[in-house]
Amino acid sequence: MKTIFSGIQPSGTLTIGNYLGAIQQFVEFQEDHDCYFCIVDEHAITVPQDRLKLRQNIRSLAALYLAAGINSDKSTLFIQSEVPAHTQLGWMLQSISYIGELERMTQFKDKSAGKETVSSSLLTYPPLMAADILLYKTDIVPVGDDQKQHLELTRNLAQRFNNKFNDIFTIPEVHIPKVGARIMSLQEPTSKMSKSDENEKSFISMLDEPKKIEKKIKSAITDSEGIVKFDKENKPGVSNLMTIYASCSGKSVEAIEAAYAGKGYGEFKQDVANAIVDVLKPIQERYNELINSEALDEILDKGAEKASLTANKSLAKAKKAMGLGRVK
Ligand code: ATP
Ligand code: MG
Repeated sequence: MKTIFSGIQPSGTLTIGNYLGAIQQFVEFQEDHDCYFCIVDEHAITVPQDRLKLRQNIRSLAALYLAAGINSDKSTLFIQSEVPAHTQLGWMLQSISYIGELERMTQFKDKSAGKETVSSSLLTYPPLMAADILLYKTDIVPVGDDQKQHLELTRNLAQRFNNKFNDIFTIPEVHIPKVGARIMSLQEPTSKMSKSDENEKSFISMLDEPKKIEKKIKSAITDSEGIVKFDKENKPGVSNLMTIYASCSGKSVEAIEAAYAGKGYGEFKQDVANAIVDVLKPIQERYNELINSEALDEILDKGAEKASLTANKSLAKAKKAMGLGRVK
């Protein structure tokens, strides 16, 4: 059975982008793969976080994974900081990463742009992400399009380690969904939707109420043409709404174009909002049952224990290969 690893940062409440680009595929993968799903809280602290809010977001993210269909009997769900092997291997991989290649990462450039101070961990984030993946002998990493570059670096670091020391790491493949891999911001449809965006109107949170969803979709930036047509270059706003609609309803982009021919944006936007509400409503109901339950803690305890077993074995091999510590 092939192994899957994927992580999400507790840096805010998940957006419809995270759902369509990541979680939705996880649910399918868990049927016939050995899956590890990680709440990567150590990645979240690469930018400033409020302590109490972070705690809340970690728990909320765990509940959302489960509410969206992750089954703890089939998959391992755990919190990164509860498995210390991640930062340990992350440090080791930093020592074979070059500053130049880390500075070239677009996420680093985007997240550091315009900031007065930038943490060094924002730069060294990709070797930690590589450690997350490599500890579990991961074959496939299902992510949105924005993580492609980090995945390429993970593969390079694994290969570099294997060549330099010992051939111990599996080289992972990236898996990107065909539709929904890059959901764009509702307010700035040329940038990707992000849960850490300061402008709340730019994203649909998975916990937004129906009224709020409707309001955000109605105020989403489109154009003055009034034609529902998929054209990413010239009509990024409308195309983004079409992608969201297609992913939430299962309808094809062509069918959506045909259905709204000659109708303008009013009815179209209402239907997009309804399709999102239909997807999120059952997830929100399950979320409310889980968020304050003891079962949630039990699942996370069990997950950390199971993940540690595999991760510690890989860490021991990597330390031996690098010559760290004593021979035991
Ligand atoms: P942040 O703004 O804190 O970086 P984020 O919304 O980018 O948050 P991440 O935790 O970085 O979310 O990524 C979690 C997963 O969601 C990754 O697999 C990523 O590729 C995917 N993802 C993030 N944004 C989008 C998007 N706009 N469309 C599709 N997939 C996305
Ligand atoms: Mg991100």
